[in-house]
Amino acid sequence: MSAPIVAIVGRPNVGKSTIFNRMAGERIAIVEDMPGVTRDRLYAPAEWLNYEFRMIDTGGIEIGDAPFLAEIRGQVELAINEADVIVMVVSGREGLTEADEVVARMLYKSDKPVVLAVNKVDNPEMRHDIYDFYALGLGDPFPVSGSHGLGLGDLLDEIVKHFPDEAAEQEDEAIRFSIIGRPNVGKSSIVNAMLGEKRVIVSDIEGTTRDAIDTRFVTEEGDEFVMVDTAGMRKRGKIYENTEKYSVMRAMKAIDDSNVILMVIDAEAGIREQDKHVAGFAHEAGRAMIIVVNKWDAIEKNDRTMSDFENLIREEFKFLDYAPIVFVSAKTGQRLDRLPQMVKDVDDNHRKRITSSTLNDVIMDAIAINPTPSDNGRRLRVYYATQVATQPPTFVIFVNDVELMHFSYERFLENKIRESFDFTGTPIKLIVRARK
Ligand code: GDP
Ligand code: GDP
Repeated sequence: MSAPIVAIVGRPNVGKSTIFNRMAGERIAIVEDMPGVTRDRLYAPAEWLNYEFRMIDTGGIEIGDAPFLAEIRGQVELAINEADVIVMVVSGREGLTEADEVVARMLYKSDKPVVLAVNKVDNPEMRHDIYDFYALGLGDPFPVSGSHGLGLGDLLDEIVKHFPDEAAEQEDEAIRFSIIGRPNVGKSSIVNAMLGEKRVIVSDIEGTTRDAIDTRFVTEEGDEFVMVDTAGMRKRGKIYENTEKYSVMRAMKAIDDSNVILMVIDAEAGIREQDKHVAGFAHEAGRAMIIVVNKWDAIEKNDRTMSDFENLIREEFKFLDYAPIVFVSAKTGQRLDRLPQMVKDVDDNHRKRITSSTLNDVIMDAIAINPTPSDNGRRLRVYYATQVATQPPTFVIFVNDVELMHFSYERFLENKIRESFDFTGTPIKLIVRARK
């Protein structure tokens, strides 16, 4: 389930982001449309041949006012800790520099596979300039041009050769979830409470990287869960760990590896831009979601406090209107016992399959109450709908003309589907297709 991580490292200006953007391709554009998603990306899903993987651009992690070399060291350390394969980028135009040697020495000592990319090799004559880089001791340099898109296929071929064997992965019935949120919202406290005495911890599963440890447990009811990336919540005191971007990256990786996301918001501190950014990513990735408002013990309350907070969340996270909200306290334990059942319920909804006949009854009833829109005398006709996928539930609706399906009507159909079937906690996707 957990896709390999490829980290891009190198001194500033060698072209790391350019290569990152090229390799992430079109899928980045989708993420960019989401609310709150910032421009500087440092994490993106990517694919090559039959491989899916994730990329991190370590150059995007700024470690405050650390001196130049300390900053690069922090980035390389992060890559060594997080990645399955590391791509070191150097510049064929500028040639070998001292900073390149610092990076190479660190990588050389790690046991991670490293692929060396010599960037800015924009034309064939420049290919001779790559030989100097053998001196780094990292094997054959691959000439590429990030800005012209040259040589990237060969580079990717080499990268995927180093991916860990997939053979070890087996079918798994357990529900995979992760607990995400900004630093200090109470994730570790919730994890500790959830893993308290009442549960049987089955095992810690070593992930693809040494630091990513998943925890498997069984509830008294016999439901099996895997809490993804529990290690991400244990503070280890590395210099990059307190940066906001690192915490966003960690959350994005956890989202990719889970089916259900518990997004924790601090009742005292309120909602921040970063919460929306991460929630937007989870929504876009099609994961089931529960919004957990923690530290409920710490605020003054009257009979409206809960509904006011709920309204605020609905206002700030409009696109997450399907996500249930639960108010908890990791400190007093209030309502924490509900979480496993809630995770199970939204996971069921995320996997739910509706038969075509039931679905079409619902769609046709909806059309009978609210006739389809028309444009210039042409009316939208809906022929047939069918569910084509789960996780998240995805429906294809066949119509006469896609242009006639307005966003508001699509929204109306989605609402009718939600009224008829319990899809609490899961996004659902409608795909409109023309049938001749
Ligand atoms: P980073 O700091 O390593 O992420 O580097 P950037 O991706 O921001 O690129 C630094 C500069 O190098 C920018 O001005 C890019 O336009 C330029 N650049 C990146 N790739 C190439 C390339 O393949 N050829 C040339 N000539 N310039 C490039
Ligand atoms: P994390 O960084 O998200 O893992 O947050 P922690 O679990 O380390 O908690 C951050 C701080 O918030 C700690 O000082 C906790 O004691 C405190 N905290 C966590 N949960 C609660 C809660 O429910 N109520 C109160 N009052 N404090 C909490």
